[in-house]
Amino acid sequence: MEMDQLVALCKRRGFLFQSSEIYGGLQGFWDYGPLGVELKRNVREAWWRDMVVAHNEQLPPPGAPSTYEMTGIDSTIIMHPQVWKCSGHYDLFHDYMVDCRESKGRYRYDQINGRWVEAEGRRVFVATTLGGEEAIADTEQKALKFFNLRKKHADRLAWLGSVVPLTTVAEFSAVLGPDAKALGTLTEPREFNLMFETHTGAIRNESSKTFLRPETAQGIFVNFKNVLDSTRVKIPFGIAQIGKSFRNEITPRNFTFRSREFEQMEIEFFCRPATSPEWYTYWRDRRYRWYQDLGLAGERLRLRDHDKAELSHYSCGTADIEYAFPFLPPGEFGELEGIAHRGDFDLRSHMEGKLVREGGELVVEKDEHGQPRYRGSGKDLSYFDEVAKERFVPHVIEPSAGADRATLAFLCEAYCEDEQPDENGAPQKRVVMKFHPRLAPIKAAVFPLVKKDGMPEVAQEIYGQLKPHFHTFYDEKGAVGRRYRRQDEVGTPLCITVDGQTLQDGTVTIRDRDTLEQWRVQKDQCAAEVRQRLGM
Ligand code: ATP
Repeated sequence: MEMDQLVALCKRRGFLFQSSEIYGGLQGFWDYGPLGVELKRNVREAWWRDMVVAHNEQLPPPGAPSTYEMTGIDSTIIMHPQVWKCSGHYDLFHDYMVDCRESKGRYRYDQINGRWVEAEGRRVFVATTLGGEEAIADTEQKALKFFNLRKKHADRLAWLGSVVPLTTVAEFSAVLGPDAKALGTLTEPREFNLMFETHTGAIRNESSKTFLRPETAQGIFVNFKNVLDSTRVKIPFGIAQIGKSFRNEITPRNFTFRSREFEQMEIEFFCRPATSPEWYTYWRDRRYRWYQDLGLAGERLRLRDHDKAELSHYSCGTADIEYAFPFLPPGEFGELEGIAHRGDFDLRSHMEGKLVREGGELVVEKDEHGQPRYRGSGKDLSYFDEVAKERFVPHVIEPSAGADRATLAFLCEAYCEDEQPDENGAPQKRVVMKFHPRLAPIKAAVFPLVKKDGMPEVAQEIYGQLKPHFHTFYDEKGAVGRRYRRQDEVGTPLCITVDGQTLQDGTVTIRDRDTLEQWRVQKDQCAAEVRQRLGM
């Protein structure tokens, strides 16, 4: 599948629109249309249901070291600025960017690649924002243009090695920027904090400055004690939250994959330090299975353990669940979710102040006067185990997923094209979105075969029976074959048709989106049939 086809379908059928499109759009922001909102809600609800509501705290799930409890919260987007100072986001949540003085383009430093080339006695690093095979073709084209050569003279370009990142280049004066005509127009990399700033209250000064949260996790940590004091949860337990997060990404791209406003689904799981490695393994595998169970079952999904060099300074284990999105070069994967063992870093930061690692120990960062650089809350965020009569700061396992990236992966995976005979037996190209039934925006469509002979009345009666239980769609316009295809294109698993036979024996035809199998059931059995077939 080409990404363009999916993007076109998303717009045509109302899954996704560019934000503020009538004004030319706003880069990095996306709106979900009438079907998109249902799909994303289904993703969120599947997550909340599977992780929180349906979790049975009386039984250890397969692979879990013991039973555990789950609960949820919904915290605010704007929080006390000290939260971000102690969490490290204020100082550390940045990307490096480079600007182009000529094209005015802005790029993430780590996302520029290029190749060294020699021609006419000059050595130039030709930069591109593309990767893999695309980078090779793009740099060749740019080099020909730069040296004013025709394509047939491509052999005058002596390439010195393969595609490498700009981060390996020291002499910026030899770099031809991705959109530049002259050499040396890229600035040195500069830090760029990704948090959106705003002000709370009437006065706009440094002390009224606040931030839109770049992750939902901190809302959970700062409520750890509230949850403990207001419920009877005992360790091990998890707190879940779904909500919007904001990052002023330098180069938003790849449809919704890298947006500036997006939604996260996060769990902070609190456990005893001694059992934390086992819980880390449990959550990593459990979260991987979740995507598989919802249809990302093939080779495009993978679980990747970070190697030691990739780990954050506080983490003793991190894994990413990744998907081979079609907009990435072959062999490349994009992150859907990260599962991190975070030790006691977050709770301690909010108690003591911003932490840094010094000689293998996490210590409070000091300023030039020897005072904590950012003061913590001073509140006791430890846990007292009544049975063992022991107090400790729990360790945390954090499965952190993006609702928009998951939705995008489910969209990519669902897209299929095949050929099916039309009413006259001629082959017809069919686009079908093979969503898992739990995720499908519409679960069933009801059609009268024709708009007469009492068929619409029966179809509306069935529609009325289904509507309170499932998102159902009623359609009586156009040829029935066309109506089927419209439902295939938005991934409706079942279509129910009232036809001539219905008027004689009270049965209707049900058609399966994937197998195209058709069978008949009594019209008052439709709700039970849909429930049973979709496993709901
Ligand atoms: P990346 O390296 O791709 O920027 P990250 O490692 O910074 O991602 P985390 O901070 O671990 O991401 O955030 C957890 C999850 O939130 C990610 O796995 C992803 O699903 C989602 N997410 C993060 N940034 C974005 C974004 N800009 N747009 C959409 N989803 C995002």
